[in-house]
Parts: sequence; C-alpha cells; structure tokens
Amino acid sequence: MRVMARIIIIGGGVMGSSAAYHLAMAGAAADVTVIEPDPTYEFAATPRSSGGVRSLHSLPENIHLALYSQQVYGDFDTLMAVDGEVPHLGFRRHGYLNIANKPESAEILESAWKIQTREGARVDLLDAAGVKARFPSLHTGDVISAANAIDDGSLDPYAALTGFRKKAISLGVAYRKDRVVGIEHSGGLARGVILASGEKLAADFVVNLTGAWASEVCAMVGMKIPVEPMRRMTFYYECRQDIEVLPTTRDDSGVSVRPEGKGFISGYTDKNEPGGWNWEMVPDFFERVIWGPLAHRVPKFEAIKLGRSWPGHYAMNRLDGNVIIGPWEGEMENFITATGFSGAGLQKAPAIGRAIKELVLDGGYRTIDLTRFSYRRVQENRPLREAGLTA
Ligand SMILES: Cc1cc2nc3c(=O)[nH]c(=O)nc-3n(C[C@H](O)[C@H](O)[C@H](O)COP(=O)(O)OP(=O)(O)OC[C@H]3O[C@@H](n4cnc5c(N)ncnc54)[C@H](O)[C@@H]3O)c2cc1C
Repeated sequence: MRVMARIIIIGGGVMGSSAAYHLAMAGAAADVTVIEPDPTYEFAATPRSSGGVRSLHSLPENIHLALYSQQVYGDFDTLMAVDGEVPHLGFRRHGYLNIANKPESAEILESAWKIQTREGARVDLLDAAGVKARFPSLHTGDVISAANAIDDGSLDPYAALTGFRKKAISLGVAYRKDRVVGIEHSGGLARGVILASGEKLAADFVVNLTGAWASEVCAMVGMKIPVEPMRRMTFYYECRQDIEVLPTTRDDSGVSVRPEGKGFISGYTDKNEPGGWNWEMVPDFFERVIWGPLAHRVPKFEAIKLGRSWPGHYAMNRLDGNVIIGPWEGEMENFITATGFSGAGLQKAPAIGRAIKELVLDGGYRTIDLTRFSYRRVQENRPLREAGLTA
C-alpha cells in the first residue's frame, strides 16, 4: 500500500529535527515524516560533536547562520519545552578566542574580524596584553592578535537534537524508525522513498539530511557530492590546578580547547585524515599531537588527568569544507540536500532548519540567502572557502 507523505526528511539528527521543527512551526507538521533508523543516534555526528557554537566566520552567510542559531539556542529551553519538560541545553556563553600567532594568519584574522563586526557579531580584536588581561592562564608571548567572540560558547549537542525532535513530535511530526534504501523518481522529480522494511512512501519533497551518509542517499538518484565521513577524535581531561573559565581557544596549531563540566575537551582536525568510517582511536594521538600545542598555550595543562575520549565523523566536504544546500537544480527540483558541514554544523542547525522550511514551503530563501552554497558550485568546481578559522 502506498501512503502519501508530502514532505519526507531522511535523517533525524540535529539537521533533520531542526528542519522538522521549523516546518511544524510554520503549520506543516501533519505533512512531515522523518525517517531515522537509529533513535539512539549511536553513530550520528550530533551526539559526538564538541558542541562549539561560534560566529567567527569570514563568509557573511556563515556569520548570519551562526547568529540566528545562537538566538534560538539562547532561548532553547523555553522554545522547546513540551508540557513543562525542558531539554537542558546548557548553552554557556564563555566566548570563543581565535589566536593568531603567525603574521600571515594575523592579517586574515583581522580582515575576518572586520567582516564579523560589520555583519553584527560581537567580536573584540585583542593584542597580546588584551588576551593576558582577560585570560591570565594563557601563554601570550607569541600572540600577534586575537579575535574574541563574546557571545559564542558551547552546549550539549544531544540536548539540541532531542530538544528539536521532541518539540517537532509534540507539534505533530511523525518519526519512523526505518532506513531509506531507495528513492523513486521519474520525469525529473523525486516521487517517494523505499524503506528497508519494504514500505514505500510517496512524497512531494524529499529532503536529504543524513550528514556523513548524504553521499549514499544522493547516489540513490545519481547525484554525486564531494562529501565523505572523516574521523575526528575528541578528548576530555581535567586540570590539576585551578584555572579561570576559558573561552573556546584555538591558535594556529589548530588544536582547540573548551570548558566542559569540571574539565575541558580538545580535538584537532587532521585534514590529511583519509575518508571513510573508522571507529578506532589512535592510542597516542593526544600525547603526540594535542598535548604539546595545548600545554604551550595553557601552561597549567602540563599537569592534567586524561578522561574519556571518543571518535566521531565529520560530513567532510572535500571541495571547500562548507555546506552544500538546496535542490538539485535542473535535474530534480524537489530533492533537497543539506550536508558537508564538516566540523561546523551544530552551530548552524537552527538556521539550516529554517532554510529548509523556506525552500520547501516558501519556494526559496526568505531570510539568509544561501544561493552561493548550492550544488551548482560543486558542478562548476568553484570552492567557497572560509578564510582563516575552519572546522
Ligand atoms: C567530533 C566532532 C566534533 C564536532 N564539533 C562541532 C562543533 O564544535 N561545533 C559545530 O557546530 N559542529 C561540530 N561538529 C559537526 C556537527 O556535529 C555536525 O555538523 C552535525 O551534528 C550534523 O548533523 P546532521 O543531522 O547533519 O548529521 P547526523 O547527526 O550524523 O545525523 C544524520 C542522521 O541520518 C541518519 N541516516 C543515515 N542514513 C540514513 C538513511 N539511509 N535513511 C534514514 N536515515 C539515515 C543517521 O542515522 C543519523 O541519525 C562536530 C562533529 C564531530 C564528528
């Protein structure tokens, strides 16, 4: 039997659930079905994310995606409350500090800062003394300049996902525990999805929000995207000495640190990491790659107690590290994809959910124009890269 569902969202991670929420808030809840095979989200990127939220981008669209998202996250427990139950997002605005310790990156940082402030992000440009005055535990001997985004912070990514999901369900969205194994299409349109259970669902719109699995889903209609899973390891540790609340801090080493509970978490994105699913942890990675640059920047981290660590996978866009969003123009206008967020999707999820709502219900972007991030740039091999800080 064929069942009609007007809007099918494939993937119920933070993107799928934010899209479902925004569609529901616009009155379309009854038309939305989210297909998600794993309600525990064991292997999804969202719960394995570092939870960092930052407005430190150089492309205006990314800044605006972050600013809207911060607005939603700032009010999340109220917005997502269901019958008085709140998600406990734990959004801490401890700031984000990007340090340039090489002359060439200082130039890039300062020109990005001009764009950030012009676009409405609250970012202070600091010299070494300014950094030291605010964060005495940081080594600043080699700091040339730093951008300190005071509204940025971090949150519990699993709470973000489940907050959107529970609210969307409370508004009438259906979640189906199943996996999409095929997409029916004809005459240049997606007609519906085939599920692992054998059922078929017809649809007016098919929205692919499957993160690092998105290439597999695109392949079901013959669309090729340069996105693949890429392992990234995260490490939790506690400092043996007292330390002030630090912002998320990153310098030119690429190693980042942010406060988490009683301790901190750190990670490092190795752009040479091969693509593909890899759930192994490299035993000496923290000591070999992370600890040196970390203890250089925060000397008190010479003495730490390492705790748990975990792998996760970016939906790595090998073209330029940025989102690919929109319909498959000229080929399948009702097949919409948003993926390739690499390590910066959580901080954009509310705004991406709203953008999906606009594409589906309004026929185009109404708030932030994301046309430059469409699949066309992939087809035309025109990378759109962030300058400086990348995920
Ligand atoms: C280690 C790590 C650290 C990160 N740190 C940050 C950070 O600090 N800040 C930040 O902004 N971002 C960060 N990110 C990125 C961020 O986590 C992701 O961009 C975001 O979570 C992606 O959400 P998603 O819903 O697209 O993907 P996911 O959460 O992976 O969800 C995709 C869902 O699709 C489902 N699915 C797959 N195939 C199918 C199918 N065939 N049918 C139906 N469903 C399917 C999966 O089961 C999954 O639940 C990090 C990521 C990682 C891995």
